[in-house]
Amino acid sequence: MATTSHDTPRVLVVGAGQAGMHVAVRLRHRLRPGEATITVVDPHSYLTYQPLLAEAAAGNLEPRHVVVPLRPVLPGVEVITRAVVSIDHSRRTAYLASDAGAPEPLGYDVVVLAPGSVTRVLPVPGLAERGIGFKTVGEAIHLRNHVLAQLDTAASAGSDAERERALTFVFVGGGYAGVEALAELQDMARAACRHYPGIEPGQMRWVLLEATGRILPEVGERMGHYTADLLRRRGIDIRLDTRLTSVVDGHVVLDDGSEFDAGTLVWTAGVAPHPLLKQTGVPLDERGRVLVTEYLSIVDTPGAWALGDCAAVPDLTRDPGAVCPPSAQHAVRQARVAADNVIAALRGSALKPYRHTSAGSVAGLGLYQGVAQIYRLRLRGMPAWLAHRTYHLLTLPTWNRRLRVVADWTLALLFPREIVSLDALEHARDEFTNAAAEAARRR
Ligand SMILES: Cc1cc2nc3c(=O)[nH]c(=O)nc-3n(C[C@H](O)[C@H](O)[C@H](O)COP(=O)(O)OP(=O)(O)OC[C@H]3O[C@@H](n4cnc5c(N)ncnc54)[C@H](O)[C@@H]3O)c2cc1C
Repeated sequence: MATTSHDTPRVLVVGAGQAGMHVAVRLRHRLRPGEATITVVDPHSYLTYQPLLAEAAAGNLEPRHVVVPLRPVLPGVEVITRAVVSIDHSRRTAYLASDAGAPEPLGYDVVVLAPGSVTRVLPVPGLAERGIGFKTVGEAIHLRNHVLAQLDTAASAGSDAERERALTFVFVGGGYAGVEALAELQDMARAACRHYPGIEPGQMRWVLLEATGRILPEVGERMGHYTADLLRRRGIDIRLDTRLTSVVDGHVVLDDGSEFDAGTLVWTAGVAPHPLLKQTGVPLDERGRVLVTEYLSIVDTPGAWALGDCAAVPDLTRDPGAVCPPSAQHAVRQARVAADNVIAALRGSALKPYRHTSAGSVAGLGLYQGVAQIYRLRLRGMPAWLAHRTYHLLTLPTWNRRLRVVADWTLALLFPREIVSLDALEHARDEFTNAAAEAARRR
């Protein structure tokens, strides 16, 4: 593993998501040749464009097209596909997970922390065994296959109880991850029902649990109510002020007293800062996010910067003490300021503060349905759906991905939905290992 033997300073970017990848892109464009070496470390070789995961899960998009491979986007940047497990900033050293055993050291001069967040899982009995999150492309692919496989299970179920369980889908958390995933998957499952003669769309039970009194806070209260009404009209059981208390063996128990069996439980009830942050020694706030100044430099830690979901970035457009919510909208804009400030610090010039007034949010709720609040403009239905698609097309990195997504959307409009469940992908080696075991028995 390379250390800081470089003649030029090394800027190490930890995490190449919405924040980290855009920092690296900007540094690459703005640094003079030979001014610094840029190194990006991420366990994945691609950025996941999370706002389009729900469309990938619904089959409107090829999952490969909602991820952006890092190496073509970052020519000349050192890309290391590993996880950082700890950082000793006093020694300017990051430690990277290694198959060989002990973590390997990687020296740096300047570090930019952007490992994002992880799903916030609560100690609900049965949740770890039965639940699945909705943050990664793997989870989106799995959910699509799983929902379609549940229809297959229901179609050939031996009892009413088995059938009802297979046709019950529970989502916990009414933010945009949960609402978009539920709305898109329900839309897909309803369309798929016409290929299952024994299953009527109305026989499926889709439930959204939200612990507070509203859903989709990202689009404002009024549009949140509109979304709840729209989803209820689509037959979705939305339960506000309701918590999941247990899901042992798929038996759902709620704090409103109701109980039922469910074959699917998707957990999108918030995010927590990445656990790596506790292994870095940098100052954290009471919620575990990195404490940064308005310049995105880490408080009392020269040569260290943080941004995106992992950081408590002061929101200068709101009351003192307010911090930016975790969103791609902020992460991408913070990335520009962070990269410019890293360069300014290297050159000894003035830093600029991060300030961005939220432009609002857009959300897709299935084919031709959406909701949006863009500044003071409120949109619903088809116009909101078009705004959702246009916005994400413009913010999706690279023309390559944008064109592929347009092609996918066009094909999806021209042809009926693809409803095959490729759950065999998740057990790709089973057939071969069974054959090998059989051969070993015969020997
Ligand atoms: C389903 C869904 C829909 C969303 N929709 C919207 C939307 O419509 N609009 C919006 O503004 N926001 C949306 N968001 C939120 C948005 O995606 C995040 O706020 C944004 O991605 C945060 O950027 P980030 O770079 O901080 O984290 P991420 O984009 O999550 O990137 C973190 C990176 O760090 C890497 N990493 C993790 N661990 C390590 C490690 N140990 N070492 C090195 N690297 C590591 C990860 O692999 C990842 O590449 C959505 C989120 C989800 C889950």
